[in-house]
Amino acid sequence: MATAPETAERPEEPDAEPESAVATARRQLERAAAHLDIDGNVVERLKHPRRVSRVSLPLERDDGSVTVYTGYRAQHDSVRGPYKGGLRYHPEVSEDECVGLAMWMTWKCAVMDLPFGGAKGGVVVDPKDLSSGEKERLTRRFAQELRADVGPMTDIPAPDMGTDPETMGWFMDAYSMQEGETTPGVVTGKPPVIGGSYGREEAPGRSVAIITREAVDYYDWDLTDTTVAVQGFGSVGANAARLLDEWGATVVAVSDVDGAIYDPDGLDTNDVMGHDERPGMVSGYDAPETLSNEALLELDVDVLIPAAIGNVVTESNVADVRADMVVEGANGPTTFAADEILESRGVPVIPDILANAGGVTVSYFEWLQDINRRSWSLERVNQELETEMLAAWDDVRSTFDRSDDLSWRDAAYVVGLQRVVDAHTARGLWP
Ligand code: NAD
Repeated sequence: MATAPETAERPEEPDAEPESAVATARRQLERAAAHLDIDGNVVERLKHPRRVSRVSLPLERDDGSVTVYTGYRAQHDSVRGPYKGGLRYHPEVSEDECVGLAMWMTWKCAVMDLPFGGAKGGVVVDPKDLSSGEKERLTRRFAQELRADVGPMTDIPAPDMGTDPETMGWFMDAYSMQEGETTPGVVTGKPPVIGGSYGREEAPGRSVAIITREAVDYYDWDLTDTTVAVQGFGSVGANAARLLDEWGATVVAVSDVDGAIYDPDGLDTNDVMGHDERPGMVSGYDAPETLSNEALLELDVDVLIPAAIGNVVTESNVADVRADMVVEGANGPTTFAADEILESRGVPVIPDILANAGGVTVSYFEWLQDINRRSWSLERVNQELETEMLAAWDDVRSTFDRSDDLSWRDAAYVVGLQRVVDAHTARGLWP
């Protein structure tokens, strides 16, 4: 059973600057490639994106002045199908970040065996500084600037940090107006009324819950005896926590950006509102105990699900992480160094590219619905998602079981990388 960590004040420990997403992605690629018999030249090629577009986006502000923002779209590899990946509006968006995240999308799509490659893009902007009208004008201009790069058969963006279904609706409308035909398949994550899929919003959290359930079962634990702590009670975290709660797990702690709540007997996750439902409602909830986000990561639970932001389990706090398993809900919550330490301690870390891949999987379903002009029921979406997640879990689990020296992350990368390399080999190099 979970116990709360010591609440004594501890001095702030400045963490070393986390390495860039592209550096981490390259290191992970090299590590996975070492487990496979593949041509070093192919691996070298996969360390680089196929193309990165950098665009200037002049925006007329509400006060009549003009601000010029910078946008990127990194396209990593499309050997298995059109590029796929989110568009992020965040002040720290950079070319390197987009390339690293695009590489992760390549492996994520391949692990799920989806006919997509990897991409990522974004605008260097704090969306909180924009009015709704400004955000719409910026999005429409971004769609126009990226028009030569994107398309339903070439590159299909989706929502990411700072963007949402409404943003995707504007993007799709701008693209469609310029092309002269309604083209819902140019983006996924749209509102259902214009070709979005039911279940898309809940999908990453649902896949985190499904993979947690399977991993718990793999280690012969009983889900109804399993305690869970979830950092970040947003779209991914709240949906994962509520499903696990429904399936019998005891969710003892959840958090938002302002802090965590803790009940050793289990929280009623449906009673706690998510941060997006009402900001401050997680940390303001009437729970037996409140904790800091750092303390949540150190709870003595069976499963820790970091589902907020990247780089939260690091070399400097990993020694205090007492969970028996980590399931990555967020993208990149565990640094490379922390990952190796957890592995050496025998703590399984189920990687993001498998656990939260429900989002891109339902994006694939959305794309199929758009192309076929036929929508699926929520029941069908959830049923097909379950099938795809179990198939991917089986592929990763059997790879993990075949070797003594593969971590769960290695196994997922090996599955994904092998598929990408096989496709390159089958298509051959056009000299
Ligand atoms: P969200 O904005 O809905 O929720 C994020 C939650 O984390 C909120 O509760 C917020 O209060 C909390 N949070 C923010 N900053 C924090 C901090 N510094 N410390 C602790 N908590 C903090 O976002 P989301 O869509 O749930 O995404 C969460 C993570 O999952 C991100 O890493 C994202 O890239 C990843 N992800 C999202 C999707 C998706 O489709 N939504 C798919 C795959 C992966």
